[in-house]
Amino acid sequence: MARVILQNVKHVFNNVVAITDISLDIPDGEFWVLVGPSGCGKSTILRTIAGLETTNFGKIYIGDKLMNDIPARKRDVSMVFQNYALYPHMTVRQNLAFGLRMRGVKHHLIQERIAIVAQSLVLEGLLERKPKQLSGGQQQRVALGRAIARQPKVFLLDEPLSNLDTKLRDNTRHELKELHRSIGITTIYVTHSQVEAMTLADKIVVLQGGKIQQVGTPQTIYNQPANRIVATFIGNPPMNILHGTYTGEGFNVAGNFLPIISEIQQKLNFNPGQTIDLGIRPEHLTLNYEDNDPSLLGEVKVVETLGRETFVRLGLTGSNIIINAIITANRNINPGDLLRLGVDLSKLFLFDPHTEERIF
Ligand code: ATP
Repeated sequence: MARVILQNVKHVFNNVVAITDISLDIPDGEFWVLVGPSGCGKSTILRTIAGLETTNFGKIYIGDKLMNDIPARKRDVSMVFQNYALYPHMTVRQNLAFGLRMRGVKHHLIQERIAIVAQSLVLEGLLERKPKQLSGGQQQRVALGRAIARQPKVFLLDEPLSNLDTKLRDNTRHELKELHRSIGITTIYVTHSQVEAMTLADKIVVLQGGKIQQVGTPQTIYNQPANRIVATFIGNPPMNILHGTYTGEGFNVAGNFLPIISEIQQKLNFNPGQTIDLGIRPEHLTLNYEDNDPSLLGEVKVVETLGRETFVRLGLTGSNIIINAIITANRNINPGDLLRLGVDLSKLFLFDPHTEERIF
């Protein structure tokens, strides 16, 4: 069993509190992804699990064993970094073998394991090459292979794909997912990429300011964000947040009226006149709506054709509110046009303007 548990873990560098009150319970074999803005503490969490940082506050368990006083080399975890750090003077085979040789594994067992890893990561034809004779993607696969060959209890991956170009990144991401499915080692993965988080994760952990904002499946994080921070962090372009006023029957937003739906009315205990923050994802605005449907009117500021879809930035009339929309455009749209976009009210989010918690 390689369940990983963090209980109220805090880490302070000199006077900087990097992470605080981090509690996670990661079941054996799951793939968890840590996301959040730069400096939110993602790498520090990985490094404390790996034992590269001392844990003075809180407890870390791997496979039900307390790790706080166990040195990094005895924790049975493999960490892969962004800059893969292969040994340049060694061949791929020697790189893959290195960790095993250090642990005294017998030669023929090492070669057997290398063969299996090389096959699963498509490295068979590259085993006798040196790192500088490999592409970035191949080098990264060797780095992953070296981590896998050790058969650790836990994989810790810190932005392992960020040095690759887009196509290689997509391919390697697919390989990684496949690999996890076949070997099922508990994996904790740090990334800035929402695509990686949404496609790889069993659970996403959203962090900000060294604190956990929400833990959930990709669907939960996207459909039921706990607060404004999570709502605007996940989703690209980010969710629009519009400052509105509750009227009793609906919301006034920059002179537009959005009627309230009954599910919201039942939950909302606001008084008419109170301000509220409405959240609308760019993909939930549309050109295709009926005359009486709720909509927002504005002037087109930017148009970008993305292929199947079109990105539009709209300045709402009579206000300084700017919103982003991803729409299917069936006609030409140009900067300066006056445009009305329909709002799917069933997809509306509401946030408390003071606590920033999601109300609906
Ligand atoms: P990024 O996405 O930019 O890699 P991150 O989310 O991984 O960031 P960390 O590297 O964990 O963030 O850093 C968390 C906080 O701790 C930041 O404020 C950072 O400046 C600080 N920090 C990290 N390492 C050290 C260190 N060795 N000494 C002092 N402060 C540090």
